[in-house]
Amino acid sequence: MAAVRGLAPYVPGKPAAELERELGISGVAKLASNENPYGPSPRALAAMRAALEQIWLYPDGASHDLKQQLARHLGVGVAQLTVGNGSNDLLVLLAEAFLSPAHNAVFSQYGFAIYRIVTQATGARCIEVPALDRGSGMPLGHDLAAMADSIGADTRLVFVANPNNPTGTWGSPASVKRLIERAPASTLVVLDEAYVEYGRERGSQDGIAWLPEHPNLVILRTFSKAYGLAGARVGYAISHPEVAEALNRLRPAFNVNSVAQAGAVAALEDQAHMRRTVSVTLQELTRVEAALGALRLWCAPSACNFLLVHIGSQAERVYERLLRVGLIVRPVAGYGLPEYLRVSIGLPQENDRLLRELAALVK
Ligand SMILES: *Cc1c(COP(=O)(O)O)cnc(C)c1O
Repeated sequence: MAAVRGLAPYVPGKPAAELERELGISGVAKLASNENPYGPSPRALAAMRAALEQIWLYPDGASHDLKQQLARHLGVGVAQLTVGNGSNDLLVLLAEAFLSPAHNAVFSQYGFAIYRIVTQATGARCIEVPALDRGSGMPLGHDLAAMADSIGADTRLVFVANPNNPTGTWGSPASVKRLIERAPASTLVVLDEAYVEYGRERGSQDGIAWLPEHPNLVILRTFSKAYGLAGARVGYAISHPEVAEALNRLRPAFNVNSVAQAGAVAALEDQAHMRRTVSVTLQELTRVEAALGALRLWCAPSACNFLLVHIGSQAERVYERLLRVGLIVRPVAGYGLPEYLRVSIGLPQENDRLLRELAALVK
């Protein structure tokens, strides 16, 4: 199929074990995939271990307990929820449900890479809207007004990551709301809130309050980032019940395994753990950003658990040198940002290691 042959695959962060094998070393720090180094709530781990005892049973295909818990936590109806194998799964389902070669999807330059992949896989056209420039109020961020201008009669999906990966940038609540108001009823606005738990602390607002008035709004969340469950693969969509019904009809019956469901329920119950890890991570983010500034390295504003750092023409070489000392960060040349590296905020001693090595490499 031509659409599949034309796909450029997603390039994930290099696994720590792979680098350890290649270099024959241990103690590699992975600061490449925006995981939460503090891990999930101990209650989530206990629930997952308990769930293993019944691993011979198929999971609950309806994710009943998790949806009940989410509905209560979010103040939405169970019929508004779709649970996925990570929010990546929901991005695929949204594209499959709403796109065809006759349609297009709008997203931002430097928007999350998966938007392009899921769009192209359906044969639909990608409309990539230039990002805000370095001198703007939100350098490299989404130009939400221009994105709204780009919506045409054949636009079925608009992907907005708020805050965005790999830039860390976010839109003001008024500018996000304005885009949603400008989208016609035939266009779904997919508000990807993978980093909402971090963003909330930095002036980025979630979109739940806009759902009742905007049946074409779809919000995506994940347990992979702040909840520390990236390996378990759980994400969810909050939408109008009709959209949820379409996604639920399309998804594989057992797309979320029983261990993951149990972990997500328990993680959600322990908000205190999640908030503590978000809070220490944001403190570290502030510290790392200041230290990079002292090295004269510019970072995009971030409301996430990572920083997009401007290294310059040596970015690729710096990435390779960091690998050799056991530090994995993320090259973003594939995003059209060849002079940048994205670094996830790790444990304080990992961040110190990164700052030390960077200082030696860029001086
Ligand atoms: C990490 C991430 C996701 C998805 O993660 P899952 O692990 O599939 O839930 C979605 N959107 C953005 C912007 C992300 O950075």
